[in-house]
Amino acid sequence: MLRTILAAGCAVAALATPVQANELRDALAEDMPGLMELYRDLHANPELSFQEVETAAKLAERARALGFEVTEKVGKTGVVAVMRNGAGPTVMLRADMDGLPLEEKTGLPYASKRTAVPASGVETGVMHACGHDTHMAAWVGAAQLLSERKQEWSGTLVMILQPAEELGEGALAMLEDGLYTRFPKPDYVLGFHDAAQFPAGMIGYSPGYALANVDSVDITVPGVGGHGAYPHTTKDPVVLASAIVMKLQTLVSRESSPLDPAVVTVGSFHAGHKHNIISDEARLQLTVRSYSDESRALLLDGIARVAKGEAIAAGMPEDRMPTVTVQDPYTPSTFNTPEFTETVMAGYRSRFGEGRVMQVPSVMGGEDFGQFLRASPDDIQSLIFWVGGVPADEFAKAQAGEADLPSLHSPYWAPDAEKVIGTAAEAMSSTVLDLLKPAGS
Ligand SMILES: [Zn+2]
Ligand SMILES: [Zn+2]
Repeated sequence: MLRTILAAGCAVAALATPVQANELRDALAEDMPGLMELYRDLHANPELSFQEVETAAKLAERARALGFEVTEKVGKTGVVAVMRNGAGPTVMLRADMDGLPLEEKTGLPYASKRTAVPASGVETGVMHACGHDTHMAAWVGAAQLLSERKQEWSGTLVMILQPAEELGEGALAMLEDGLYTRFPKPDYVLGFHDAAQFPAGMIGYSPGYALANVDSVDITVPGVGGHGAYPHTTKDPVVLASAIVMKLQTLVSRESSPLDPAVVTVGSFHAGHKHNIISDEARLQLTVRSYSDESRALLLDGIARVAKGEAIAAGMPEDRMPTVTVQDPYTPSTFNTPEFTETVMAGYRSRFGEGRVMQVPSVMGGEDFGQFLRASPDDIQSLIFWVGGVPADEFAKAQAGEADLPSLHSPYWAPDAEKVIGTAAEAMSSTVLDLLKPAGS
């Protein structure tokens, strides 16, 4: 890691000067009507995770028309668009494509009316409630700007459209399908996510850990069922599972370091059917969040130990111990390599102004963007940043306490898409131009 940090440090001075600030912005303003038309089309036609077939085909076609070598169906529905443009480093830009199983309630004229069938088998509405449509439109905006400016950069540009971010599986699917072996492996990886808590056009960033490891854990707690009036003839799994839930609280409060953030939430507890029956099983569903691999291991080991320990304390026989299942794959934490992050943000501060760029606290939410660094941590530098999407008037109302803001994944989330797309496309393409500045220029 040290080697790459030093390499990035050398680039700081080179990136501090603003590059074609107005020229890029002017070009984007000209492209914006077309990008907004694309955005409205993407928004009206969302597809679920690993079902992004029309979306992928539509955008692959655009990239092909811009002169990229395009490969489809990488990691099921992913797209890889490569532009080789002489000697120099390789930069990868990522956008994700999937919508959510949610019925849209924004009332927008281009609101989604689509339905689809997710893995659960029950038909549902589909909505771009996480703003991945803004990510894709900005991705196209950057592709246009950079393909029109090939004489201003030297190196290789790899632009990817990732499926199934919402399942936390798409990045890994692309990597396992040869993203770093069949295509040029990046030196730098860059992506952004729209944000529902910042005003539109604001850029937020967190150096180091930005998003958490996300584990889903299932605990099945067997009991010995019987009549509710004769508890002494049973082993009550409700009482045992309750003890497990309470004891789990000590993992964060007593075992994990207070300086290393961690969350253990029991989101679901199911047992029994009737007042007077002691059931023979309880089931718990947990979400477990952490940043470091060590913290993750401590929590997962602790959960297994607590479940077994409480069962022993309850006198459960050896063959009726709880079973603990950790969902595989999990969503690993996202780490923004600090020097690279600061370098890029120095560029954004000079381009957008100090007031539009702010360091923000890390969150315990998850994103599978972190996979791209984890696949080769010693020679890749990586950053995902936030671009605020809350329309200015709504943000002002919320500040005045007159309105609540919808969060990401809300059926009411309606970002100021033009601001998000404009800011992100300019930001990403300016970083590529900075990183791939031809020697001697
Ligand atoms: Zn999401
Ligand atoms: Zn998202």
